[in-house]
Amino acid sequence: MNQSNSAEEKLAILEKRLNQTIQSRKQLEDEYQHDWTHFSNMLTQLSYACGGLDQNLDSSLTKLRGLLQRNSGMEQLKPVMAESETHIQSVTHHVQRNLKASHEATIEAIAWLKKQPALSQESRAELQRIIDSTQSQHVSIIHYMPLLISLLKYCQRLGHNIVEQPKQDYSQEQKIVVKLIAQLEFTGSTEKQLVALTRQLKGKLSTSELLTAMVSLLETIIDGVNLERQSAQNFLLEISQTLGAVQGTLSQSVQERSHYEKDNSMLNQQLKSNVDQLNASVQGAQHLETLKQEVAGHLSRLNETLQEKLALENKERQQFERTTSKLTSKLTHFEQQVHHYKQKLAEQKFKSLQDSLTKLPNRAALEERMSVEEQRFKRTREPLSIAVLDIDFFKRINDNFGHSAGDKTLQVIASMLRKAVNEADFVCRYGGEEFVILFPNTSISDAQARLEKACDRIRNIPFKFRSEDIRITVSVGIAELQQVNQSLTSLFDAADKALYEAKRTGRNKIVLASAVSD
Ligand code: GH3
Ligand code: MG
Ligand code: MG
Repeated sequence: MNQSNSAEEKLAILEKRLNQTIQSRKQLEDEYQHDWTHFSNMLTQLSYACGGLDQNLDSSLTKLRGLLQRNSGMEQLKPVMAESETHIQSVTHHVQRNLKASHEATIEAIAWLKKQPALSQESRAELQRIIDSTQSQHVSIIHYMPLLISLLKYCQRLGHNIVEQPKQDYSQEQKIVVKLIAQLEFTGSTEKQLVALTRQLKGKLSTSELLTAMVSLLETIIDGVNLERQSAQNFLLEISQTLGAVQGTLSQSVQERSHYEKDNSMLNQQLKSNVDQLNASVQGAQHLETLKQEVAGHLSRLNETLQEKLALENKERQQFERTTSKLTSKLTHFEQQVHHYKQKLAEQKFKSLQDSLTKLPNRAALEERMSVEEQRFKRTREPLSIAVLDIDFFKRINDNFGHSAGDKTLQVIASMLRKAVNEADFVCRYGGEEFVILFPNTSISDAQARLEKACDRIRNIPFKFRSEDIRITVSVGIAELQQVNQSLTSLFDAADKALYEAKRTGRNKIVLASAVSD
């Protein structure tokens, strides 16, 4: 009896436990469902918020929303989210460029306003509003966001993997960081620190040394951003102070003027009454002797008043000259500052379009130039050719003689290419050991002739690494734009395909896209 009771009891306890487990599992599932719904709602909202910025971004966001509505799992979402992220990055880049342009336009507007002789209260307020909005836009951290995010993600990944490795010679991780640094656009002391860090990162580093270098890199970036912001803020503050001072001097001069006008009109009245009195004396004169005395008295008073008037006018002129020179020196100072700031901005814009190693235009510059050439072709129908070049067996240079030898080679080849083609041809470093040349107003056969000459000169450069004589060759693909509706991207693809053909059939040669079958 006792035994069966206890068996029943056990059963009951088990049943209770089972119920509890089911309950808590259900609760967990509910919570998960709730979190997931929350997450997918948020993602949908975000995707709507990013809409309308860019066609590619829109299409990947539409895909993302579709998947979310169908309640698709994380596995399906991941690639679409990655795709959206890439598009968002490119839109951010574009927005950043516009921000720079609008900042320059604002500075122009401020310079223009400054030249207006009578700066009213309203225009000063308007100027202040422009300054405020410029301030918040230009120093926007958004510029550095994609980079910081990649760095942080990278740090995280590295942190998971913190097994101390022996010192490595320019590991894959180090290369990634060096590449990231190359994308930064700092000047002055921050740039110097980044150059030093790059040098360190190109040497032998253990895992912990690499992490330490990453931390100083992050610190340098954050300091750099702060410095940039401070200098922008200081500049805007100075503009505002200069304008404040100009306004002050102007209103002081207006006050002084009205003060002088009052004194002057008093003196004029006095002069008039002097003359009236003189007149009255002459009219009512009985005796010549008394008239003489009276006239003499009146004349001397008249003279005094005139002297006073002269002195007052002198004082007024001097005061006016002082005010004018004060204003002129303030405005000159202001002009110098605007000039300095404009130069700094132009320098930054230039840097963002230049490859730091070879000093050639970079891929971003090529994209800008391609769209210009595309428009020009549509307008003029002048021939347009494009070449894609890739150094043959470049990896061997790095492997056999070190990365610095590889860097030097890239610099020498870049400068040789620049010199070998015409000045109007656009030569850029597309990335790694690849170069792209745009040949405006040039047929494919003319481009080929110029490239034959360039390849020949490269072939004959006497490289000497560790007392070994090395010859380097390149492979090239060329294509010419044929129809108005052909995009430059498809022209680029055709040249790239021809390059692949050159590589496939033995390297060290030029292949024309027209000779490659689809
Ligand atoms: P292929 O003839 O097929 O083009 O062979 P390759 O060795 O030239 O091509 P691969 O793509 O295998 O190797 C390119 C190498 O270029 C790999 C990469 O480490 C190196 N590289 C890319 N950028 C730089 C750079 O800025 N400096 C140095 N030193 N090397 C670089
Ligand atoms: Mg390559
Ligand atoms: Mg190569």
